[in-house]
Amino acid sequence: MALDTTEVVVIGAGVMGASVAYHLTVRGVTNVRVLEQASTPVAGSTSRSAAGVRHQFSTPTNVQLSLHSIARLKQFRDEVGYDAGLQQVGYLFVIASDIDWKQYQRNVTMQRELGVRVDLLAPQDAGRLVPGLRVDDLLGATFGPDDGFCDAQAVATGYLSRARALGARLHCDAEVTAIVTAGGQVVGVETTHGRIGCDVVVNAAGPWAGRVAALAGLDIPVRPVRRSLFVSETFPHFPTPIPLTIDVGTGFWMRKDADRVLMGLARPDEPTSFNTAVDWSWLPTVLAAGHARCPALACARIDPERSWAGLYEVTPDANPILGRHPSLSNYVDISGFSGHGIMHSPAAGLLIAEEIIDGRAHSLPIDDLRIARFGEPQHGERNVF
Ligand SMILES: Cc1cc2nc3c(=O)[nH]c(=O)nc-3n(C[C@H](O)[C@H](O)[C@H](O)COP(=O)(O)OP(=O)(O)OC[C@H]3O[C@@H](n4cnc5c(N)ncnc54)[C@H](O)[C@@H]3O)c2cc1C
Repeated sequence: MALDTTEVVVIGAGVMGASVAYHLTVRGVTNVRVLEQASTPVAGSTSRSAAGVRHQFSTPTNVQLSLHSIARLKQFRDEVGYDAGLQQVGYLFVIASDIDWKQYQRNVTMQRELGVRVDLLAPQDAGRLVPGLRVDDLLGATFGPDDGFCDAQAVATGYLSRARALGARLHCDAEVTAIVTAGGQVVGVETTHGRIGCDVVVNAAGPWAGRVAALAGLDIPVRPVRRSLFVSETFPHFPTPIPLTIDVGTGFWMRKDADRVLMGLARPDEPTSFNTAVDWSWLPTVLAAGHARCPALACARIDPERSWAGLYEVTPDANPILGRHPSLSNYVDISGFSGHGIMHSPAAGLLIAEEIIDGRAHSLPIDDLRIARFGEPQHGERNVF
């Protein structure tokens, strides 16, 4: 493949499309067009994320994606020229059930073997990290001091800006309405601005990835599922930084957002939809779980103006789909991150650039993440909230 003439169309200008465009352009593939259906880039799930970053996953593949990605988010300004807003306040998983505690201790062993700094804490030590946390029913906790959160908008905008400076072109208001194939290859896309020929097409359409794949006649199991996030008014009970805290038993989580508290809890019966209105009917359940774990939260008043909802891009095993499609080899997926896409965007964009330029991703093993896995027994990610 002649690098300087390869035309790559990236569908979607969220963090994944931006990261792919960046990693292609720094490798010399500069004929990159990022097509975005919205009137501005970074308008999809990326703009609605809680932006947590953590090493504490249950599968080695996700831990490796985190190790690579968080190291690069730390150096983002030096590498990309923008501040990723990384705040390594830690992630604290608090655990009350015997089954979960055994599983999390096994996770810690695996995470440490891969080089992650992670501590097993006694309940009272967990209580010291979060004022007012209820710990009397806990068996223990795990704490990753290098975890935390970042600024998702800044990461996506940084990657996109750098890619454009290196030659990539961004087209907004450009919905891809068809993927044109001939002889078992993608030859172009139809957009609301007309047809664009290409050598490679990348599906970085986030929650819309299933729909976009269908334009090429492919079945990609990515479903949009709403998640509502609730933000309190100013909350003085947490005067200093606290870790992003997850009550594993209920799935309730919270972190500080400046001087407020951001909190959430996945609704198990949430249907597949593109609905992004905040689910106020779910708030009492979230608050009940929050008060039970941290009674001090009873004083927190929710600010309706600051709360929001967005779409997770969910796959059956809560892991992304990465790589070329076996039946259409110049169609490439980077989708289905199931709520952990921001934190894995540096590694994912690099791997997809390698898949396009070198024929196969090689910096990290991604065979567990290829579409072909859905025909085999699955070992999905358990730590998704
Ligand atoms: C409430 C919430 C909390 C989250 N919390 C975290 C977290 O703590 N940590 C974390 O790492 N991740 C989190 N995530 C997940 C993370 O936000 C996503 O994994 C990530 O943003 C996915 O990025 P993307 O670029 O694939 O998708 P998007 O940002 O949605 O970008 C896809 C783009 O494709 C465009 N598009 C779609 N179809 C077409 C088409 N036909 N033609 C042209 N353009 C098209 C869309 O308009 C969109 O802009 C959260 C998500 C939500 C919703």
